[in-house]
Amino acid sequence: MWKIKRIILSVLYICFASAAVVFSLFFLFTRFLLTEPPEQPDEFSPITTVTIPSEENKSDDTSEEIPHIVFDETKADEDLPVSSSAHSPMIAITFDDGPNANTARLLDCFEKYGGKCTFFAVGNMIEYFADDLKRAAENGHEIGSHGWDHSRLDLLTESEIAEQIDKTNRTIYDASGYNSTLLRPPYGYVNDLLKDTAAKAGIALIGWSVDPQDWKSRDADAVYESIMANVKEGCIILCHDLHATTVDAMEKLIPDLIEMGYRLVTVSELLTSDGSAIIPGEMYNHK
Ligand code: ZN
Repeated sequence: MWKIKRIILSVLYICFASAAVVFSLFFLFTRFLLTEPPEQPDEFSPITTVTIPSEENKSDDTSEEIPHIVFDETKADEDLPVSSSAHSPMIAITFDDGPNANTARLLDCFEKYGGKCTFFAVGNMIEYFADDLKRAAENGHEIGSHGWDHSRLDLLTESEIAEQIDKTNRTIYDASGYNSTLLRPPYGYVNDLLKDTAAKAGIALIGWSVDPQDWKSRDADAVYESIMANVKEGCIILCHDLHATTVDAMEKLIPDLIEMGYRLVTVSELLTSDGSAIIPGEMYNHK
């Protein structure tokens, strides 16, 4: 009988001891598990204050902040191509001697692929292609002047220069509603009298930095190769949509330049992209 009591007591003792060990292990284990989660909100909160505030209104409830973080980070990733394109290198393609029979096809090309350009219109051509000039302005392209009749402006008197500028700009405005502030002197000839007269009229003079000599080669492949070989950030490219071969070249050039990462912008956008003002009477050739 005594032996049976000792056995029962021993069994009970072992049971209690085992229960104590199991309970201790369980307590330590659960304590370890419970200490981790409370740190998470503290780790997340600095991120929420950095990421969310400028984006949108939100409640102070931390439980609603985590889904917002996920959303905003995804949104930031989606915004990356847009912000990188905003800092893409700019170039300005310009077209002299229009508007003409090829201008509409050139406008189709820009509508298809995107990008903007600048037209330097010859005053006495506008009445024949007024709709195309209006469409160019409506599509966001820039309209500059190329003189009334393509005369060399450096050979004219002050009043003659003033008349070339004024008559052409009034005709551009009547056809397209565009207030032109740029002039490309025919053949690129400039003298001090032209600069002074342009300054009085509030007009800046625009040259170029890349010349594919499209008027000379009249070969679409040669125009394409020449521009591709010389294009660089900040350049102003001289072209003439008077030649169908130049527009042929543009049908390949415009999408290819865009794919290369260039932003095709107007001359004014290019010249003011660094915050500079365009100064009347100045001659700009750019990079
Ligand atoms: Zn010209």
